[in-house]
Amino acid sequence: MASRVVTDSREARPGALFVCVPGERVDGHDFAARAVEQGATAVLASRPLPDPGVPVLLVEDTVRALGQLAALWRGKTRAKVVCVTGTAGKTTLKEALAQVLALRGKTARTAMNHNNQIGMPCAVLNTDGDEDFWVMEAGISHAGDMDELAPVLRPDLGLILNVGPGHTEGLGDRGVPWHKARLLAYLAEGGRGLVSADYPELVREAMASGAKLHFFSAADQRTAYRAAWLGSAPADGNAADGAPERGLYRLWLDGETCDVITPFQGAYGAENSIATAAAAHLLGLSAAEIAEGLARTRLPVQRFNRSRLGAWELIDDTYNANPLSMRRMLDAAAGQARGRTFVPVLGEMGELGAVAEAMHEELGRHLADLKPTAVFWKGGHADEVRAGLAHGGYGGPWLIVDGPESFMAAWKEFARHGGLEEKRGGLLLFKGSRFNRLETLLTAFREGN
Ligand code: ATP
Ligand code: MG
Repeated sequence: MASRVVTDSREARPGALFVCVPGERVDGHDFAARAVEQGATAVLASRPLPDPGVPVLLVEDTVRALGQLAALWRGKTRAKVVCVTGTAGKTTLKEALAQVLALRGKTARTAMNHNNQIGMPCAVLNTDGDEDFWVMEAGISHAGDMDELAPVLRPDLGLILNVGPGHTEGLGDRGVPWHKARLLAYLAEGGRGLVSADYPELVREAMASGAKLHFFSAADQRTAYRAAWLGSAPADGNAADGAPERGLYRLWLDGETCDVITPFQGAYGAENSIATAAAAHLLGLSAAEIAEGLARTRLPVQRFNRSRLGAWELIDDTYNANPLSMRRMLDAAAGQARGRTFVPVLGEMGELGAVAEAMHEELGRHLADLKPTAVFWKGGHADEVRAGLAHGGYGGPWLIVDGPESFMAAWKEFARHGGLEEKRGGLLLFKGSRFNRLETLLTAFREGN
């Protein structure tokens, strides 16, 4: 019998079910023989394999079958199942919530950013089955995605963190809130929705679902769960020297109030803190446990990870970007810069379809308000960003780069002629959509300074 599910033949070991996924570039069926060589116990395929040597489960559509198998396994667990969705911060929230819940009981979660119809069911099937909690991320980029993901999980708690323009290219005419709120149509019996009250369209769609709902707010809404940012808290005493400050928040948890230290900062951090805390509270954790869990939480890599390099503070937010996360992380970084040199090193935001130009121009206008010392840009829509910057009254350095070498050359030029007070240092934020690979610029900066 198989005890583990894999889609990458290199991860196949004895006891693994290898699922042949027909991808855009490679077809998993071509790797089945290699998976078996590595010890795979069985194969899930949509066409007969020559001399497989192990049992083959032949189905019409392997990805659908994977979802169906995961749904069966979900039906057998006694774990409380949480599904996390939203436009920005799903992985961050999933990681934070799983770390908090782990204080109370055995907790499984989706791996890294594996949030689609392949990765999420694999995470479900790879649970031991005796967990107390599952925290699973669901990411949608096309119409209908949620109707494939949510039925696998039938969550006890369906958490919608936020909504904003993201994947607008693939989602079509119906708004993002409508697509996210589809989650609420698939709750388990007795299941509840946990939804941000700060996005009126999302509230409308959530209410229309008829699901039992709880609301949280990072703004000043009179919801049972809300949070307010109180300021920065000292760095974690256990961390190495130079560890960044953390964020202090006041939380209202359905009648109780507590102050917590979290790895988050600023307004976006209020949203993540209260969403994590509200979910944990609804799952039975006390305010004290929540505070302890949040204080211990570590951010996933490439999500607003802060470090120091001499006089420079570097923020690695290179995992991804869309208009919502771009705006919020720029605000958080500008807040951290506090009047020092502030240099956003940014990349194009992808998958925006018809609204791409307008969104990039708006980014430029917003950037201008934050008064950066210089702006570096990689990728398309540079003209729109620049126009927005100019419209917002920004007249500082604007440097277009196409990779680590050109970034370092431009940086040196800027440092030489830009009147930069190297000794005083400042803050650099690296952020852009995944395909920009802005982490390569960050690495070059580290190596070159
Ligand atoms: P993806 O769609 O790529 O799966 P995601 O929703 O899982 O993204 P993360 O990977 O957690 O999101 O973070 C993506 C970006 O959003 C990062 O820049 C992160 O710092 C930022 N972010 C985290 N929380 C929030 C929030 N509450 N609001 C806006 N941006 C956020
Ligand atoms: Mg994610």
